[in-house]
Amino acid sequence: MLPNAPDPHVGVHEIAETQGDLRLDCEVVVVGSGPGGAVVAKELAEAGRDVVLLEEGPPFGKADFVQEAGESMQRTLREGGTRAARGNPITPTMQAIALGGGSLINSAICARPPAWIFDKWHRRTGIEGIDREVLDPHFDRVEALLGVAPTPVAVQGERNRRFKLGCEALGMSCEPTWRNVQHCRGSAECFTGCRNGAKKSTDVTYVAAAIRAGARVYTSVRVERVLASGRRATGIRGRLVEPFTWKPRGKVQVEAKLLVLAAGCVGTPLILLKSGIANSSGWVGRDLRFHPGLAIMAMFPEPIEPWKGATQGYHSVDYLKEGLKFEVLWSPPAVLATRLPGCGHAYQEHLLRYDHMAPFDVICAADDSSGSVRLKRGSHLPDLRWEFAQTDFEIMQKGLGILSDICWAAGAESILPGLNGIPEVLRTQDEAEVIRSRPLEPKDTITAANHAFCTTRMSKDPSDGVVDERGCCHDLDNLYIADTGIFAASSGVNPMLLCMALADRIALGIADRC
Ligand SMILES: Cc1cc2nc3c(=O)[nH]c(=O)nc-3n(C[C@H](O)[C@H](O)[C@H](O)COP(=O)(O)OP(=O)(O)OC[C@H]3O[C@@H](n4cnc5c(N)ncnc54)[C@H](O)[C@@H]3O)c2cc1C
Ligand code: SF4
Repeated sequence: MLPNAPDPHVGVHEIAETQGDLRLDCEVVVVGSGPGGAVVAKELAEAGRDVVLLEEGPPFGKADFVQEAGESMQRTLREGGTRAARGNPITPTMQAIALGGGSLINSAICARPPAWIFDKWHRRTGIEGIDREVLDPHFDRVEALLGVAPTPVAVQGERNRRFKLGCEALGMSCEPTWRNVQHCRGSAECFTGCRNGAKKSTDVTYVAAAIRAGARVYTSVRVERVLASGRRATGIRGRLVEPFTWKPRGKVQVEAKLLVLAAGCVGTPLILLKSGIANSSGWVGRDLRFHPGLAIMAMFPEPIEPWKGATQGYHSVDYLKEGLKFEVLWSPPAVLATRLPGCGHAYQEHLLRYDHMAPFDVICAADDSSGSVRLKRGSHLPDLRWEFAQTDFEIMQKGLGILSDICWAAGAESILPGLNGIPEVLRTQDEAEVIRSRPLEPKDTITAANHAFCTTRMSKDPSDGVVDERGCCHDLDNLYIADTGIFAASSGVNPMLLCMALADRIALGIADRC
């Protein structure tokens, strides 16, 4: 954003403006302002619909972002960033609670899935009519609005450049990530929010456009239930919640002719389960899918000032068909520090070499692994489960071997693999072969997963999923879902852009038909 640009959140209703209870009626109520919900709100408002957009989190302006990881996570992430799925590895998974949802704190990578991903979707749930030919016009529209472009060389920095060098030395293809940013300064702070105003998150793009088109946007509203009668949803009920303490205040009721849930792949099934609707198939909250991710820390002989350069500026999709994607990574020092091995002086040694390190990561499609989202008894929070299938884990272990090769080819003098049963520091490429040869299990890893989907999956047959290819619930005629929960299987690549293209298609479909 340019220095004197107007406040992008003008018109957003904050909790301080609402005394007592909130009662509204409208044509369309959209729940959630992340990549899915924001697109729907804008497109339907521009199509002349009277739209109300409800978001549980508060808005964050440039001045609200703090770089300290703990404080930032406490303010912008659900459960302060400590949310995790139970299973064979305990898998941390982050979801935002903010105007803009995940787009506020993510790395802004925008990737179109290859065509064959949708063949997999078709094989899993029989879904028809969702493919690249159908989605490409929607990808075009979203990319144009967000100004999606390749990360320029000028803001790559040495950390990203090393990853590129490593891939090229191995003969692997590697490309600059395409991102929804403008005037990026390469400050590597995407995770704690872009203080430069460069990231085109949905709060400053789609939500702002929705307001210009007449939508009413209310933050600090937690939707708890969808009200329904027979095959029709009639509105929502919820509470106002104080930002950061999340204490409930006044009641909220919104009556609407059409409803779109986009509370994220954890939030939407929670609302549906609590409401006891849209689940004749039993698939609500079932089939939670992740892209599990693992990182290896490459240590370089010379300082590379890794805090300079786009957060994730290069990636390689060379092994995507095998279920693997390789990336450069960066996160705040306090987060990286938790990942370093040893204690006492040995730990301090690692910390002191902070300017020599670069984390590279691999994410896995994990097509055989799944889990669930359930309601935690007596709470509005989820009970998440996820099991890493051994078949997928073997693919992941192969990925770790390749990731280690990238580190050496990039000029690393040692690597920190972060795997139980393997030396904390590996000093030669031969030594690092143990990453391939040692039998490992999921619980030997520090797996994390921030790409989540499939909890209200799309299916052809109503008994196999929750929504149809239009995003409409099989069980209700006017209840739609437009977040990553509707994916029928993994997106292979980072999911945000696909979520937005699907949301664009869903919104235009509603505008046409209803
Ligand atoms: C650290 C991190 C980095 C990532 N990097 C990338 C990346 O570079 N590229 C990429 O493609 N993907 C990335 N992702 C994933 C991506 O951000 C998500 O897939 C995407 O945000 C999902 O969009 P969504 O609309 O489905 O849900 P969300 O973004 O989760 O939005 C849901 C919204 O609904 C709100 N909500 C939830 N429940 C309620 C309720 N009951 N009432 C009212 N509002 C509610 C939430 O507060 C939230 O704002 C990253 C994720 C994380 C956590
Ligand atoms: S790298 Fe820095 S300037 Fe660029 S989008 Fe991320 S936070 Fe903003």
